[in-house]
Amino acid sequence: MRPSSGSFTFEEDWDEKKKRALLIVRKLMEAYPRDRLLHGDPYFTLIRCIISQRNRDEVTDRAAEALFRRYPGIEELAKAKVEDVQALLRREGVGLWRSKGRWIVESSRILLREYGGEVPDDVHELMRLPGIGRKCANIVLAYGFGRQAIPVDTHVNRISKRLGLAPPDVPPEKVEEYLRELIPEDLWIYVNHAMVDHGKAICRPIGPRCDECPLRELCPYAKGLVDLKKGRKRKPRKQA
Ligand code: SF4
Repeated sequence: MRPSSGSFTFEEDWDEKKKRALLIVRKLMEAYPRDRLLHGDPYFTLIRCIISQRNRDEVTDRAAEALFRRYPGIEELAKAKVEDVQALLRREGVGLWRSKGRWIVESSRILLREYGGEVPDDVHELMRLPGIGRKCANIVLAYGFGRQAIPVDTHVNRISKRLGLAPPDVPPEKVEEYLRELIPEDLWIYVNHAMVDHGKAICRPIGPRCDECPLRELCPYAKGLVDLKKGRKRKPRKQA
């Protein structure tokens, strides 16, 4: 069933959209094959996701490696002093190091105290942890547990809207709803992985390379049918 909010900037029957979504995912899977999707340890994935928020991948990788070298597991991080974790993150150039250091230690303590040291495989339970929003919860499910989930990060949000799979004026949680309705569940896990690669290589935030894109024929943005300005918030006018 079609989600109720948001409006598209072009006409398309819902069943046609579903067919097009399936073709898009298949083409993305061909372009960015499955064997590049790695599943990791759920706890590592969760902590890495906290570190990664508003950080470049290189900084996240370096900081996560340094953190786990010093604190190899959940018990060590649960016992760690928040200030020491914050100092390590700061040294590694992680933004929002104060909050992230606190979230990492608090989440580890909650996991140990309430979940016997295991990461729960449920999106709502995961979202109870400090620093874990819907995107990170879905990342843990997909990349930590290998479950069917669609984390909507900046790439998935932008590309889904350009492709007319979600309206330009909806927030990421709604984009997830649209994608879940349009794409068969057994393919959900590919979506983030493929769109992140596609967003870095071709469908970049500024200057998408539509001429080289394997999705060109399926893309309303390339045909001038999607107006992304519709989704932007207007700046409030200054009072005279
Ligand atoms: S055709 Fe252009 S806008 Fe559409 S998905 Fe490809 S790069 Fe992005």
